[in-house]
Amino acid sequence: MKFTQPRLPYSVDALSPVISPATIDFHYGKHEKAYIDTLNSLIEGTEYEDMPLEEIIKKSDGKLFNQASQAWNHILYFFQFSPSGKREPIGRLRDKIEEQFGSFEDFKKKFEEAGLTLFGSGWGWLSSDSDGKLFITQGSNADNPLKYGLTPIFVFDVWEHAYYLDYQNRRGEYLSRLWDIVNWETVESKYDGIA
Ligand code: MN
Repeated sequence: MKFTQPRLPYSVDALSPVISPATIDFHYGKHEKAYIDTLNSLIEGTEYEDMPLEEIIKKSDGKLFNQASQAWNHILYFFQFSPSGKREPIGRLRDKIEEQFGSFEDFKKKFEEAGLTLFGSGWGWLSSDSDGKLFITQGSNADNPLKYGLTPIFVFDVWEHAYYLDYQNRRGEYLSRLWDIVNWETVESKYDGIA
């Protein structure tokens, strides 16, 4: 079964100026497309051909893992944004964030720190275990918390291709601006689906 790249639920200029149309064109239109195309060519005729993407990520390594994980991570990343929507979590997720990290503001600070201090390319995630406990982690390249039994519910991409066209080397500024386009309703629904 071939994976297809889902269409974004917003227009290419909808996240501007936080993420420009040019970045969406390159990042989603070219980088993410290439991960999915390569993934499809690697699984063709193999035991992975009919597996759900999450299973491929858990069971593969090397080149296939890199393509599968990058394909999955970018869908999590791009679909959590929206030109309008809830800009702060409420309910269960909000309560858990405050219980574990002190306040939403403290959480944001720790989350930005995870992205800012990662050396080189990679990701900063908020994940949940099966009991609903939250984890802020960072990982290099195509790393994915699915490998460690956690389910990512929210992510910031800190590969240079995510921000260089709009922010050049200013990764911290990019991270601090992303909060303005997060739709927490999407993140909440992922959390509610886990525990
Ligand atoms: Mn990326």
